[in-house]
Amino acid sequence: MQVLITGGAGFIGSHLAEWLLGTGDRVTVLDDLSTGSMGNIAHLVGRPNFSYRIGSVTDVPLVAELVDGCDVAVHLAAAVGVQLIIEQPTATIETNVRGTEVVLAAAARKRKLCVIASTSEVYGKASKVPFSEDDDVSLGPTTHSRWAYACSKALDEWLALAYAREKKLPVIVVRLFNTVGPRQIGRYGMVLPRFADQAIAGEPITVFGSGEQARCFCHVRDSVEAIVRLMRTADAVGEVVNVGNNHEITINGLADRVRQIAGSQSKIVRVPYDVAYAKGFEDMERRVPDLAKLARLTGFHPAVQLDRTIEDVLADRRRALSAQ
Ligand code: NAD
Repeated sequence: MQVLITGGAGFIGSHLAEWLLGTGDRVTVLDDLSTGSMGNIAHLVGRPNFSYRIGSVTDVPLVAELVDGCDVAVHLAAAVGVQLIIEQPTATIETNVRGTEVVLAAAARKRKLCVIASTSEVYGKASKVPFSEDDDVSLGPTTHSRWAYACSKALDEWLALAYAREKKLPVIVVRLFNTVGPRQIGRYGMVLPRFADQAIAGEPITVFGSGEQARCFCHVRDSVEAIVRLMRTADAVGEVVNVGNNHEITINGLADRVRQIAGSQSKIVRVPYDVAYAKGFEDMERRVPDLAKLARLTGFHPAVQLDRTIEDVLADRRRALSAQ
């Protein structure tokens, strides 16, 4: 199978490319290297079934050419990360909405299977535990640019499902919860690599807000296996599916585990949201995925334990920092 991965030089995309090459598929990556890097795919370049193009998902002729040449398009390219979204709201909305529209339109011409990456952020401020795919979404005001990410991804979902209904395009919407692992970087606000870098350097580990907010962290290896299984499941077509891990930990708890596993003397300090992000920043207390639909469709359950995930991230960050 020939798979196009947009955003394939990014964190999740590069792991997906690796996985698919390992199962005998052919992979083409499209990436503009805005948050991804050639370093993420350097080990794949030169392999017979791998190719890449540097360019944007908003480039209509380029996307049309690449989609025509593939059997499946996995659309991961997006402006990602809370910090990036607050700093560059225009680019977020344009990349996330326009990019998805271009990919879906190209896929619709030849009815190519399209896997669209969405996010647990679309559940917004809802407080239900766990979140199921058909739950209501509850987003904050348009005056807070934080919600531009959730809203743009929600629009991507509407658009994908509209293409499915109206143009009979086979689509699968994958709602990813916090995904972590090697190659993720902390620069754009991702919590685990940021904590890992701080613990390794012996600097204060900065917890934003009270730290009592809780999250579930899924190793990228599990997320990628879930995506691949969904891609190969006929019954998943036309569906929205949560992908993540449902083991919950507070951010204070995460900071503790990182410090302990790293053997670090770092202090843990709390930084108010207003200082870390922007005035009026709102965060969710809990975000737990209901994984019943994923299990029903694919039989898959995430397997990597959090301590193992933290060890992998620390090892990766040590390697990356020592190579600088
Ligand atoms: P990432 O930033 O590493 O990957 C995104 C990739 O898209 C990068 O390589 C970037 O260079 C590329 N890109 C951005 N704009 C582009 C454009 N206009 N044209 C071509 N390429 C472009 O982040 P990631 O964590 O690997 O995220 C992948 C997908 O998963 C995104 O759609 C994101 O919204 C979704 N997601 C991720 C998480 C997570 O916890 N990592 C959670 C929920 C959803």
